Amino acid sequence: MTPAIQTLSDLVRINSVNPAFQNGRPEAEIAAYIGQFFSACGIETWEQEVFPGRPNLVARLPGRNSSRRIVFEAHTDTASVAGMSIPPFEPEIRGGLLYGRGACDTKAGLAAMMHALASLARERLTPPCEVWAVAAADEEYSFRGVLRLCQGLTAAAGVVSEPTSMRLVTAHKGCLRFRIHTRGVAAHSSKPQLGVNAITAMARVVLAIEKDSEELAQLSHPLLDHPTCSIGTIRGGAQVNIVPDWCSIEIDRRLLPSEQIPQVLEQYDRLLGGIAGVEAHRDEPMLESGPLQTRVDSAVAVVAAQVLSGMGLDPAPAGVPYGSDASKLSQAGIPSIVLGPGSIDQAHAAAEYVECGQVEQAVEFYRRFMLAFE
Ligand SMILES: [Zn+2]
Repeated sequence: MTPAIQTLSDLVRINSVNPAFQNGRPEAEIAAYIGQFFSACGIETWEQEVFPGRPNLVARLPGRNSSRRIVFEAHTDTASVAGMSIPPFEPEIRGGLLYGRGACDTKAGLAAMMHALASLARERLTPPCEVWAVAAADEEYSFRGVLRLCQGLTAAAGVVSEPTSMRLVTAHKGCLRFRIHTRGVAAHSSKPQLGVNAITAMARVVLAIEKDSEELAQLSHPLLDHPTCSIGTIRGGAQVNIVPDWCSIEIDRRLLPSEQIPQVLEQYDRLLGGIAGVEAHRDEPMLESGPLQTRVDSAVAVVAAQVLSGMGLDPAPAGVPYGSDASKLSQAGIPSIVLGPGSIDQAHAAAEYVECGQVEQAVEFYRRFMLAFE
């Protein structure tokens, strides 16, 4: 086992399921492990409290130019272990693949960043810019770790690790989630004419949203294709012998960088107001996560493409439909990309794994980037 794969195994062994999910654990334990790793290499670290017992861990290596900084970031929390078909916290390597919860999303990238920074310290190499490697809490639920990191942060570039199969991702969609309710009037189910059925009202809302979603195909982006809308849950009614007086659905709407959240919400309000005979209303969103669109000619993207080319990897910019911490760094004025080992197809999967070879590639990529970005 190489040192990076050994670290990845250690990270997988630490349960860091986001505490919002069943049997989750605060990120304190994994942050402490990462802190000890850096301390052993003589690298300065500190914690930023996100929630009690749930810190970000920041490691800092000074650069030649003390007024310029680049930030590497990977999250420490993972998806839940519900439905997994392998032992989540007992990493196993088979056929060059390391299995376990978080192996791909995103402890592989985290281990690679740790070893890239450690290698510079070990070889006494001073990078052009100060380098921060940040292990951030709470990406899988509400992005509070990166939001805490962004408070007062300045940096010339951000590199966020998520599974991109080592592709350079400069654009991703935003995500908006909200609930819609319909109200009715309860009555005995033997006399439904005395009530108003909130479930049949919601059926009309669902069909109207489905029709509206077809229109989304008219909007497109060169790297991101179309916006999407998915109705993910429906709940309603108390019991079968009562005409239901309530029903609710939850919407997951993925946004292009050209779409603005307030305008998108207004469109849904207009849609709901226009369905004849239906009383429907929308709650304030439970999640608003902005899209990422970093210019392909920005320094961060140009240097990343050069490093990839130098390693014989595909330097072409790509887009992904899922969100990441990169859009929050970008919103804070730090031009950012997403690039990491592993495929998103294995993230959150029942048998999550990462290719060990890609982890080693990521160590090399991050190291070269740290040394190349001026
Ligand atoms: Zn992730």
